[in-house]
Amino acid sequence: QGKLLSEKFLIPQVSTGSMFRAAMQLENDLGRRAKWYIGRGELVPDGLAADIVKERIGREDCKNGFILDGFPRTVMQAKGLDKALHSMNMVIDAAINIQISEAEAIRRIANRRACGQCGSTGSPGAEACGECGCPLVQRPDDTPEVARHRLEVYLAQTQPVVDYYRAQGTLVPANGLQPIEDVFAQICRRLARMGVREAAERPEKA
Ligand code: AMP
Repeated sequence: QGKLLSEKFLIPQVSTGSMFRAAMQLENDLGRRAKWYIGRGELVPDGLAADIVKERIGREDCKNGFILDGFPRTVMQAKGLDKALHSMNMVIDAAINIQISEAEAIRRIANRRACGQCGSTGSPGAEACGECGCPLVQRPDDTPEVARHRLEVYLAQTQPVVDYYRAQGTLVPANGLQPIEDVFAQICRRLARMGVREAAERPEKA
């Protein structure tokens, strides 16, 4: 959904998980620090996640907006993001919460394969990456054991973020049990109702 929204609104998709995986592949300092947490299904410390997001959204291609994917995952991150956006003269238009059952989450994660090279998620049943043709592999944190722990972490640390955005009036719920294109259509209808506009309809930012 992040990719589809990024293509529709012509703004970058900023995925913290992808940024950490890229850093792990490069084996740089960030990658080494993140690996310990990611392999265990824990969240990386708030400061690390906040720093990479702040650096990324400060770049030129984010000046007309961006889709944050996988961030914020704690209330602390959400509050830090509000502060950072305030100083950039920006606000959050919508916080999209795609809902599925725990059993379905585990089933999808266990069946998910991602490209070992570029990291994009493979189509169901595919053996090679649709983007670069490289073999698809299971993410080390997508095993059933780690995935179950990630769900516990989600309930304890990320679920409160949903309440945070509900209280702000920006929460957009979507039913994730529908086919991908129906989830997308539902999100788009709700964003349109909230007045979130596509690039062509937005005034250029100086
Ligand atoms: P994802 O690809 O979004 O599922 O993220 C993979 C892993 O990266 C997560 O299980 C966390 O360990 C870490 N991660 C990604 N985003 C965040 C975040 N906003 N805060 C803390 N850890 C994160």
